[in-house]
Amino acid sequence: MSDIVGTVKRENAVGRLSEKETAACADYAKDYVSYLGIAKTERRAYAEAVRRIEALGFRELSTFETLKPGDKVYRGYHGKTLMAAVIGQEPVANGINVIGGHTDAPRIDLKPVPLCEKGGLAYFDTHYYGGIKKFHWLVHPLALYGVIVKPDGSKVEVAIGDNPGDPVFQITDILPHFGAEQSAKKVSEAFDPEDMDVLIGSAPDPTADKDAKETVKRNILRILADTYGVTEEDFLSAELELVPAGMPRDLGLDRSMIVGYGHDDRVCAYAGLRALMDLPAIPRRTGMVLLCDKEEIGSVGATGMDSTFFENSVAELIARQDTPRPEIAVRRALEASRMLSADVCAASDPHFPNADSTGNMAKMNAGGCLIKYTGARGKSGASDARAEFIADLRRIFAKDGVVWQAGELGRCEKGGGGTIALYMARYGMDVVDFGVPLFNMHAPWETASKLDCYMTYRAYRAFLAD
Ligand code: MN
Ligand code: MN
Repeated sequence: MSDIVGTVKRENAVGRLSEKETAACADYAKDYVSYLGIAKTERRAYAEAVRRIEALGFRELSTFETLKPGDKVYRGYHGKTLMAAVIGQEPVANGINVIGGHTDAPRIDLKPVPLCEKGGLAYFDTHYYGGIKKFHWLVHPLALYGVIVKPDGSKVEVAIGDNPGDPVFQITDILPHFGAEQSAKKVSEAFDPEDMDVLIGSAPDPTADKDAKETVKRNILRILADTYGVTEEDFLSAELELVPAGMPRDLGLDRSMIVGYGHDDRVCAYAGLRALMDLPAIPRRTGMVLLCDKEEIGSVGATGMDSTFFENSVAELIARQDTPRPEIAVRRALEASRMLSADVCAASDPHFPNADSTGNMAKMNAGGCLIKYTGARGKSGASDARAEFIADLRRIFAKDGVVWQAGELGRCEKGGGGTIALYMARYGMDVVDFGVPLFNMHAPWETASKLDCYMTYRAYRAFLAD
């Protein structure tokens, strides 16, 4: 083992783990797949996380008057952003260890007034969310998830497309026989998002008068009213997301990889959660997992990392620890904390060598990947972690036998990206990105290796326990 820990050689570590670790990796991957199949939206990821931690004894922070070492707490914003923590032996004011990831993923949202009829067919008009290659989302069967909230506060939960027998939806594409005009265009210009309506029906309303107009749309409205009790106006107060229909599954004859929707970033969110849940003892410092929303659109909004959720959560913890001068204690806790920004990175794909940063790209099966800086061009927008912090992480990972590698987000001038790291770095705390390398990031189906998923979890667990 020791010869591949902290490797710069990026050797394939499959088959080099102990028998016990290999079995643990397989179990881990199986449970992750079951989580990923449920957590298809940020709201569902939140609900599933709360269900799992409550089963382990975590309780809503507001139910605690005071906190003592070993207490397990959680706190949420709007059913989307979650903080879960295990209180450490040292006071929170000394700083905490944070794993911060996100649970939103690129997808196709419905517009506020989505229902329309075109050419005698019914569609939902859509507005895409996050950075996608538009053509990836055409043709695939899509499932519809989300909520419709009525003015009286009642909520209709929508989940159509993943249960056996459910219908699915589709954004259609032109056939290759007629595709000459489309093929002549640049890929970036060939797919107008305004044309990405999703097909939801073709049958006219059987109860409509002979001279009635838009009877296919009327029929959909009739079905919506009968099945869900919702009207066209109710879509104004809805959040409905189209995501790929289907469950994550093993990829490859050797079953060494997982293909699924939303690895970015549920693969790291799950790893962080499991790391916190599996802590063997009360940690020295308070360990926290932060699972935010809105990362894919810039971490903005009340449920994004650029909100006050994290500082308020730290203040709530400190308020329950009988801390002298709590106002300054919160600021000091923020400064003295440290975080692994738990987000995915790009794995080197042999079919796209021109995108690689030579010798500095993550490889599949070489473990979780540490990204010292993200950003673009001359590291623009990067928080660029300091060497002292990374040296300490090397110590932590080596002690625990974590298989890991260090990488960059692609070739200089060609690659780039951002995570939530910079929003935490502004407190003065040490932050660095560490996550699972992926193929086809932001595509409807992303691919990760089981070993990399497992080793990312092992890294997070070692970090929280330090
Ligand atoms: Mn991400
Ligand atoms: Mn992303």
